[in-house]
Amino acid sequence: MTTTVVVGGSFAGMTAAIEIKRKGKEQHKVILIDKSPLFLFIPSLIWVPFGRRDIKDISFRKEDVLTKKGVDFIHAEALSVDTTTQLVVTDKGEYKYDHLVVATGPKVNFDVAPGVAEHSHYVGTPNGAMKLRLALEEFKKNPGSIVIGATQNAGCMGAAYEFLFNVEKWLREQNIRKKVDLYWVTPEDYLGHFGIDGMPMGETMLKMFMKMFNIHYRTSVGIKEVTADSVVLSTGEVLKSSLTQLMPPFIGVDFVRNSPSLFSTPNGYIPVEDSYQHKQIKNVWAAGIAVQVDLPFTCEKIPFGAPKTGYPSDETGKIVAENIVRVANGRTDLKKKAWGKIAGLCIMDAGKKEVLIFSNHLFKPRTFAIMIPNVIYDFNKVLLEKYFLWKSKNGYAWMP
Ligand SMILES: Cc1cc2nc3c(=O)[nH]c(=O)nc-3n(C[C@H](O)[C@H](O)[C@H](O)COP(=O)(O)OP(=O)(O)OC[C@H]3O[C@@H](n4cnc5c(N)ncnc54)[C@H](O)[C@@H]3O)c2cc1C
Repeated sequence: MTTTVVVGGSFAGMTAAIEIKRKGKEQHKVILIDKSPLFLFIPSLIWVPFGRRDIKDISFRKEDVLTKKGVDFIHAEALSVDTTTQLVVTDKGEYKYDHLVVATGPKVNFDVAPGVAEHSHYVGTPNGAMKLRLALEEFKKNPGSIVIGATQNAGCMGAAYEFLFNVEKWLREQNIRKKVDLYWVTPEDYLGHFGIDGMPMGETMLKMFMKMFNIHYRTSVGIKEVTADSVVLSTGEVLKSSLTQLMPPFIGVDFVRNSPSLFSTPNGYIPVEDSYQHKQIKNVWAAGIAVQVDLPFTCEKIPFGAPKTGYPSDETGKIVAENIVRVANGRTDLKKKAWGKIAGLCIMDAGKKEVLIFSNHLFKPRTFAIMIPNVIYDFNKVLLEKYFLWKSKNGYAWMP
């Protein structure tokens, strides 16, 4: 019997845990530790501030599906791991493993600049999205300027773009658009870089959207400071802002950073081979955002990162599961796929419109890459949400 402990049970961890059990059957015991009892479809959080979704619509209790699939769920926070004794320490006890999967996602670095934690909103958590809902209600009573964007070192620019276009649409629906100066600020060298060095026609399309929706924008800027009513850019420019939403950088979680024997990178990610096996510790694996991904480009002025989106998170969970089962069966031929070589599949919501993004590889060089705008309605994004929630609720982790 091989025991695998998976820390983190979301896109990457839940997929890995269920797949190890499906492929390894009775030969494998799988324990999944997560501090949250809920699986949350994070991409739909951008709709929560506008009341288009409530948290209950996009989440479910993960224990039921895990138990049905033969995975033991432990609702606990993992505090550290000792990779020599192969023990994970949690706030509810210790767990011994033969293989460890780190799928803990990110910690959001709100300390990136003064005032970001205090004065800027963040749509990426249920609490943050609900606070934004209240803030928008208040804003409606006394409209001013709005600044939306990403800070230096951020990598998840796509979600911030989505929020921007949803705010623009909401302002029109509230009949206050003309009263509001809307700003987009980004460390990207150009609009639509997205941390993947862009897509064909991406910059042109985004410039067209900015012009069409009268959104002022600044590229290649960092955030010096956020105050209660302004955003100070790295260029010294001060933008008035009654409501600010910024995407800060992601770093590795405390569990990783508090575990020196994991030999994580300085920003708290796990260094892995293309098989997602730890570069030095053969029975440690990583999947999803926890993986260290080297940037395939250089930033011209302001540093920013690459996005680690849902599709590669799910894919790396599957690769890890396959490889753990292979190793347990004595095989040495591991499945390999470098992060940048995973296909790019993404839908960017543009405020009840959408842009479909497909490429054969996430990173360049690519032989196929296309962005398809759909100005009629964001039904593909809605379909994706319904499909992913259905698939996850039923534990069909093998599906794409
Ligand atoms: C606002 C927003 C919108 C997005 N939109 C899209 C989109 O449209 N398309 C797309 O492809 N991607 C999108 N993404 C990215 C997508 O959400 C991530 O790729 C995905 O969530 C990564 O999955 P993960 O399993 O690696 O990490 P996460 O989903 O972050 O999960 C990590 C899990 O680990 C648990 N955990 C962490 N630390 C511990 C600990 N110490 N002990 C126990 N448990 C722990 C957490 O509770 C969590 O369940 C978006 C992200 C954000 C923030």
